[in-house]
Amino acid sequence: MPLNIPESSFQRIVVIGAGFAGLKLVRALKGTNYQLVLIDRNNFHQFQPLFYQVATAGLEPSAISFPLRKIFQQQTNLHIRLTEVLNVNIAEKKVYTTLGEVIYDVLVIATGADTNFFGMNKIAGAALPMKTVGEALNLRNSILKNYEAALTSDDPQEIETLLNTVIVGGGPTGVELAGAIAEMRTFVLPKDYPELNFREMKIYLVEASSRILSAMSLSSSEKAADFLQKLGVNLITGVQVTGYEDDKVMLHTGEFLHARTLIWAAGIKGNLMGGADELPAGRGNRLLVDEFNRVTGQDAVYAIGDIALCESGKFPGGHPQVAQVAIQQAANLAANLRRIAKSEPMKPFRYSDKGSMATIGRNKAVVELPFLKFQGFFAWLVWMFVHLMSIVGVKNRVLIFINWLWNYMTYDQSLRLIMKPGKGNS
Ligand SMILES: Cc1cc2nc3c(=O)[nH]c(=O)nc-3n(C[C@H](O)[C@H](O)[C@H](O)COP(=O)(O)OP(=O)(O)OC[C@H]3O[C@@H](n4cnc5c(N)ncnc54)[C@H](O)[C@@H]3O)c2cc1C
Repeated sequence: MPLNIPESSFQRIVVIGAGFAGLKLVRALKGTNYQLVLIDRNNFHQFQPLFYQVATAGLEPSAISFPLRKIFQQQTNLHIRLTEVLNVNIAEKKVYTTLGEVIYDVLVIATGADTNFFGMNKIAGAALPMKTVGEALNLRNSILKNYEAALTSDDPQEIETLLNTVIVGGGPTGVELAGAIAEMRTFVLPKDYPELNFREMKIYLVEASSRILSAMSLSSSEKAADFLQKLGVNLITGVQVTGYEDDKVMLHTGEFLHARTLIWAAGIKGNLMGGADELPAGRGNRLLVDEFNRVTGQDAVYAIGDIALCESGKFPGGHPQVAQVAIQQAANLAANLRRIAKSEPMKPFRYSDKGSMATIGRNKAVVELPFLKFQGFFAWLVWMFVHLMSIVGVKNRVLIFINWLWNYMTYDQSLRLIMKPGKGNS
């Protein structure tokens, strides 16, 4: 069954994935003589850097998600299909989806990455990942349900287990989550649940390497650790989580931590569909590409964003899997596709690193720009400004700004709803 894309005299580019990379590519090809087909399993673009605020009841999912059809209302050379890509057949230039198949002239794979549990199936079955807005919402539900359950227990050990949170992975996501949950414990939870003693609640952040935020400088890493410790987060570095059973998080040291909430922010792997997994891939399930983002050995297949691995001189292990790389690769590929249409030579991708940052909580952030590092209140303002300006849609920006202002003034997040399908509890 075909995907029902109209016949066209123009070359057809099929883009899989409407994340940072796919979205930018399609936008940058507006007005060209290409027929564009954008496929995503969601009908919206998600702003992953703020997932942790959805998970901790600071923002509504709709504030960080934007409907694709609204974004592209004015783009006439584009056909959007809401479906999951199951397979690609590179030899026949065909993409197979749950709704049908489509033939391409050029294929762009921009499917991003999913959580990597490194083959630990028990952890995968029980831990809470945060790679989609649905998973962020599920995390919010789980945490709140555990506090509700703690109210009805008379076993002190069970209560402690229900209140505790273990976050695995000390990258920006783990750090931001740990800070946000610690602030909830201080400012919000004791007021919502006066019958529970939140002084008993422990938040552990477990990181396998010797320090948190290991992609940033030592000084930023130390400052973030200092901020977290002041918020009462227990930092455990140089320790691997090896299993999870009966509410016990096992550590490689033989010790364990009691917690019903286990959040996994420790690794990602590329989202490869059938057929694409036969293309040359490197570490982390990422497709090997050249400096034009062309998949190794292919003329008409490109990969951009988290799924692409370009082992270049300055980045022997590939570029960092961050939004700026995805956006810049997409912009470069769009410019190259325009050049191809004019029979001009392509230009290689060069990453311009604009810096990195992480927020730990109220007035607390670390920022590293190419020539300047700073921490604390000003860093926190910069973090907020950059994230606000990166969000798609004016309405979303205004909504988020109002939310942040409200939360800052009231020391409260007002979105602590347990949302689930069906009629209600359990
Ligand atoms: C919690 C979290 C916080 C982050 N914070 C930051 C940050 O602060 N700063 C930063 O720079 N980066 C951050 N990142 C990383 C950043 O979000 C990624 O680098 C970026 O999203 C990569 O863009 P992408 O387009 O490659 O993939 P994505 O944005 O992940 O998009 C992939 C798209 O492909 C679709 N898709 C996948 N498989 C299929 C399929 N088979 N069929 C149909 N559709 C499919 C998905 O639905 C999705 O829309 C964060 C990531 C996470 C998870």
